Amino acid sequence: METQNYNLICGIEIHVELRTASKMFCGCVNDPFGAQKPNIYTCPVCLGMPGALPVANKKAIEWTIRIGHALGCEINLFSKFDRKHYFYPDLPKGYQISQYDQPLCVNGLVKTEFGDVRITRIHLEEDTGKLVHQEVNGEKVSLVDFNRSSVPLVEIVTEPDIHSPQQAKAYAKKIHQIIRALHVSDADMEKGSMRLEANISMQGIGDREQGILPQYKVEVKNLNSFRFVEKAIQYEMKRQAELLEKNETPKQETRGWNEAKQHTFPQRSKESAEDYRYFPDPDLPPMRFTREYVEQLKKDLPELPEATIERWQKEFGIKENDAKILADDIEHKTVLDVLWSTAKDRHVDTAKLASLLVNKKIIVDFGISTYIEEALTAMEVLSSTMTIANDVLIAAINEVIAANPKAVVDYKARKTAVIGFFIGAVSKKLGKVDSNQVRNAVQEMLR
Ligand code: ZN
Ligand code: MN
Repeated sequence: METQNYNLICGIEIHVELRTASKMFCGCVNDPFGAQKPNIYTCPVCLGMPGALPVANKKAIEWTIRIGHALGCEINLFSKFDRKHYFYPDLPKGYQISQYDQPLCVNGLVKTEFGDVRITRIHLEEDTGKLVHQEVNGEKVSLVDFNRSSVPLVEIVTEPDIHSPQQAKAYAKKIHQIIRALHVSDADMEKGSMRLEANISMQGIGDREQGILPQYKVEVKNLNSFRFVEKAIQYEMKRQAELLEKNETPKQETRGWNEAKQHTFPQRSKESAEDYRYFPDPDLPPMRFTREYVEQLKKDLPELPEATIERWQKEFGIKENDAKILADDIEHKTVLDVLWSTAKDRHVDTAKLASLLVNKKIIVDFGISTYIEEALTAMEVLSSTMTIANDVLIAAINEVIAANPKAVVDYKARKTAVIGFFIGAVSKKLGKVDSNQVRNAVQEMLR
């Protein structure tokens, strides 16, 4: 194996689109994914018209500081916006408003099970428009949609502390979980509201002791799932080690990940750092924060996933692994908290309830908390295996359907999520029933 003579040196850059109501430097609606048509959420500012003046979004600044606090950063009391110049059709101004030498947050730390990852900096910038490549009247064209132009974008940069593909994945997952817990972004990697890049090089085992750093780095983009991150790094480690074994230095370039072919491929070569001609944006005043203001933002931080997991274990006796899985999707946290305390009040075994949820033996509709009641009933009858004659069951389900039109609508809209309600309601009528039998019957009847 070629890779055994080398250590992975990897840093990760994550871009996260904030879900503020309006864009970063104008009042346009910030909803590029929900937009019905291209270019409807635009104005002279986010279209980059000459003379249009930007005004910074306070919420976006506060949310970036919030992310900084959650990742253990120091918050700079003085910060500013800078212009980063480059040419591309999705950036009509010819520069991106970003932050250069005074980012909002610096020096953070994220712990993973594979080792700590230091955060170099977190800065706030604006997203670009989006190029759409398609065919119009048989001709290949590139169109630009500016709905995404100037959406607040946070960039989180790590030190090259990542030394295995597993660690990279664990780090990305952790950031994803924290960002969602902070309610600042939906951080959807598939849609692109969270985007990930890895800077990868390999260092000879002997070079490490002597402090000799790799003379190149390969940037891999378009890593839009946690699995791709892991696979792309694995692939690069092998590819680079093979070159190094032949005494060749891997080319400094940007590569993409091709999931179909399971390999990275060159996108463009980077001979040296691009010259972005950064300078302070004269249209935006620098920012000064008081210590009190920054401290207040820290106090207002919502409970982070690690704390939730710990609390669920302590307060409700939920097994660590179950707690980890259930806390992964923060949207469900509030409802789960209600569920645990209701269950505890009724002396229902919360640890067992959690396991049943994890194993999908019970499904709770998290959007409709009234169904919690039924989930608990379902839980209470779950151990039973009493099978009922089919016609009796169908009659009971029909009664439930007739009495609960809303549940039917919910079921049809959200598919299986309301099934717990039906199981609960049917078992109220018939006593102990086999929940699988009810589930199958309901699924059949409401198809
Ligand atoms: Zn605008
Ligand atoms: Mn960036």
